[in-house]
Amino acid sequence: MNSHSSISELVTHERPALAEVGRVRPIQPDHEHRRSDPTRIDRPALERAVSDMLGALGVDATAEGLRETPRRVAGAFIDLLAPEPFQPTTFPNDEHYDEIVVARAIPFHSLCEHHLLQFSGVAHVGYLPGDRIVGLSKLARVVDHYARDLQVQERLTVQIADWLDRELTPRGVGVVLEAEHSCMWLRGAQKPGTRTVSSALRGVIRDDPRTRQEFLALTRSVRDA
Ligand code: ZN
Repeated sequence: MNSHSSISELVTHERPALAEVGRVRPIQPDHEHRRSDPTRIDRPALERAVSDMLGALGVDATAEGLRETPRRVAGAFIDLLAPEPFQPTTFPNDEHYDEIVVARAIPFHSLCEHHLLQFSGVAHVGYLPGDRIVGLSKLARVVDHYARDLQVQERLTVQIADWLDRELTPRGVGVVLEAEHSCMWLRGAQKPGTRTVSSALRGVIRDDPRTRQEFLALTRSVRDA
């Protein structure tokens, strides 16, 4: 098994030399199960809805500081729900690399579908390569892609793991998300700083105790830091 230092090193290096043999497969809409659809955003309707909400809250939306609020809120929600398009490129694992690859502490933020309030934290995304590998920066793009949607943390965790399974058919997958939910602490159900941890483990990372231990230790060293 690899030492931590060699795995940290992996985290910081891309493999651009493989670009010409890469396989590009855009994320397919039928695989996404998106709650929000960026192609159907109606910005004028959204701005009117924010205006109506302010009115319903008994707020004078024409007051000086609030005139631009519907436009700004609409822009903020569009940013939170519309992911950048990206084409994740995968490569053949020609060197038969067979240690766990982990991108640790990837920051993310998402929108809770129950309250339309933010939850945010870090994702640890790892896999044990089979026939294909992917650039480590792409793992962060995958997290961001699925996070920009109306979400619950558990589904986000599973969607990231499903993507790895589907695109890389690896020998194992491990995804751990740690997040603070503003809908929990704003309403007093939790104290600020309380993190919810969710995980999706597949293949040998789930079934082989040593591999599972190694993966969880890799994520824990960050969590306890
Ligand atoms: Zn919520």
